[in-house]
Amino acid sequence: MAVYQDQVITLKARQYRDHDALVTLFGCKTGKFSAVAHGVRRSKSKLAGQLHPLTLSQATLYHGRSTLDNVMEADLTQGFPKISEDLERLGWAMVLVDVVDQLVPEHEPSEESFVVLLAALDAFNQGRHAASVGLKAGFRFLSVAGFSPDWGYCSTCGRPLEQGPVAIAIEAGFLYCANCREKAGGPMDTISLGSLRSLQYWLNEHPSKFGQVDVKGGMEEELKRLFFRHLLHETAKPLKSYDFLLNIDRLAHGPKGG
Ligand SMILES: [Zn+2]
Repeated sequence: MAVYQDQVITLKARQYRDHDALVTLFGCKTGKFSAVAHGVRRSKSKLAGQLHPLTLSQATLYHGRSTLDNVMEADLTQGFPKISEDLERLGWAMVLVDVVDQLVPEHEPSEESFVVLLAALDAFNQGRHAASVGLKAGFRFLSVAGFSPDWGYCSTCGRPLEQGPVAIAIEAGFLYCANCREKAGGPMDTISLGSLRSLQYWLNEHPSKFGQVDVKGGMEEELKRLFFRHLLHETAKPLKSYDFLLNIDRLAHGPKGG
C-alpha cells in the first residue's frame, strides 16, 4: 500500500456510485490507468471541479488492495479551455484521447506519448490548425504503439522510395516501390511522396513544434485516410470520436467531407 504523486492528464471521467467518479488518467511516470475519485461529485469535496477530461493536474494517489487506485488530491495545472470552443479542435482532441485509451497498455509508462499528448493539447488550446496537430500527434502514437515501417525504403527490395505514389499495405505496415507493388498484387492504399516525406519528418520532430506548419488540402485528406485506416486496423472497432469528427467535417464542408 502506497501513496504516490504524478502529473496526470485526465482522459475520461464518468459517474461511479453516488458521489464518486471513475477517471481514466494518463500519468507522466505511471502510464494509463483508471482510478476512483471519491466524493468528487459532492460540492464541498476538494476534488470537485478537478479532473475534468482534457486537463492536466498534479495528483496524489493511493494504491491499496483494490484493483483501482484512489485519487486523494488533485490540483489543476492546465485546463486548456480553448479546446472546447471549437468543434474541430474538440473532435481531434477526443480522437487523440481515444487513441491513447485504446493503444497504450495499462500501467505501462510512456513518457514519449505523455509529452506528445500534452504538446497536442497545448497546440489545440493555442488555436493551431486542428487536423495538423491531430495527425502529427496521432501518427506519433501509432509509431510508439508499433506502427513504424521504414518510411524511406521499399519493404521488399530495400531500394529508397524516390517516386510516388507509394503503395502501402496498412495491415502489414509494408511500403512498396512501383516494381514490387506490381508483383505483390491485391488492393493497397497509396500515399504521395510529399505526404510520405512530411510524415517521416514529423515522426522525428519535437512535439513542441506540432502547431508550426499546417497540413492542408490533398495531403491532409490523404494522411487522414491513412491514419484512420490504420487506427481502425489497430483498434478493430470504429471510434466514436471519429464519427464525431466526420460529422463536424460534413457540417463544415458538405456531405462529401471526411
Ligand atoms: Zn521494391
